[in-house]
Amino acid sequence: MTRTLSAPVTVAFDYTRSTGPVVGRFLTGLRDGVVVAGRTSEGGVVVPPLEYDPVTHEQTTDFVEVASVGTVTSWSWVPEPVKGQPFDRPFAFALVTLDGATRPFLHALDVTSPDEVSTGMRVQVRWAAERVGAITDIEAFEPLSGEGDAGGSAPPSSGGTGTRTVDPVTGVIVPVSLDYQYAASPEESAFYRGLNAGRILGQRCPTCQKVYVPPRSACPADGTPTAEEVELSQTGTITTFCIVNVPFLGQKIIPPYVSAYVLLDGADIAILHLILGVPADEVRMGMRVRAVWKPEEEWTYSLENIDHFEPADEPDADYDTYQHHL
Ligand SMILES: [Zn+2]
Repeated sequence: MTRTLSAPVTVAFDYTRSTGPVVGRFLTGLRDGVVVAGRTSEGGVVVPPLEYDPVTHEQTTDFVEVASVGTVTSWSWVPEPVKGQPFDRPFAFALVTLDGATRPFLHALDVTSPDEVSTGMRVQVRWAAERVGAITDIEAFEPLSGEGDAGGSAPPSSGGTGTRTVDPVTGVIVPVSLDYQYAASPEESAFYRGLNAGRILGQRCPTCQKVYVPPRSACPADGTPTAEEVELSQTGTITTFCIVNVPFLGQKIIPPYVSAYVLLDGADIAILHLILGVPADEVRMGMRVRAVWKPEEEWTYSLENIDHFEPADEPDADYDTYQHHL
C-alpha cells in the first residue's frame, strides 16, 4: 500500500494587544529600566501590578518601584528549551521576590546548570541592551554579583530616578505561532501526488455521481466512501471571486488581485485559486480560465504547483452551467 503524505505546517500571525493603564505602567517602567509594582488594599506589593485589587476589585492606582534584585523562592530547570522560550540553551524558570515586593515574579534565570540554582539565592535583573516596553526588556535574572550591591544591576541607559519617558506604553505586538504536522488522507495523498505529476485528480461519489476535488474520502452529501478516480480538466469557470485590496504580512502579490472559485470542467465543487493575466476589474462570474503551472522543476506535492489561473479566451459560460456551485 502506498504511504500517505504529511507535511509540517506553520500558522502564524501578530496579535496587537492594548495594555490598559496598569500593565502599560509596568511595561513603561521596564522600558525606563525600573520594575513597577502595584500595592494592594491589604498592603501587598505585587509584580507585575494586578489590574484589579483581589479583595476590593477596585482598579489598581497605587504604584511603587521595587528593586531589581531579589531572592529565588522556587525554580524549575528547563533542560531542552522549545521555540519561543527565553533561551535556546538550558536555563531555569524562577519565581523571584524582588526586594520591596511581597509576591514572587516569574522570569528566566540564566545559569548553565541546575547545580547553580537554589531556593534562597540572590539574583539580579539583567536588562536587555535595547528596551522597548515589553517583558523581554528584562533579558533574564542572573546570580547577584557581589554582596552588598544593594542597587542591583544598573540599566544600560536612562533609568535612575526622576527621568521617565513621557509617552507611555499602550500596546504590545504578540506573535502567535502554531507548528503542526498535517497528515493527508489516502485520497488527499493521491490528489497531491497527482499535482506532483501535473494532473488534477478528484473522486466520484458512486451514489450521487458528484465529483469532488480534492477528494474527501467520503461524499459530504450522502456519506458514501469514494474510490473512483477522475482526472479533471485544466480549464474551468469562475463561479465567484474576491478582489483583494488589503495588504497584509507575508502577502506574495501586490494588491489589487483576484482570488476566485474555479469550477474545473468535470468537477462538482470549485477550488480557490489566484487569477492573473487580466485586470482585477475585468474578472467576472462565468469567465473561463485555465491553469498555469510553475516550471516542472519547482513542483512539489502542493496546489501551489499551479501558479495561477488565466483567461482561457473562450466565451463566458452560461449561468445555468454553474449556478448550483455558487
Ligand atoms: Zn454522493
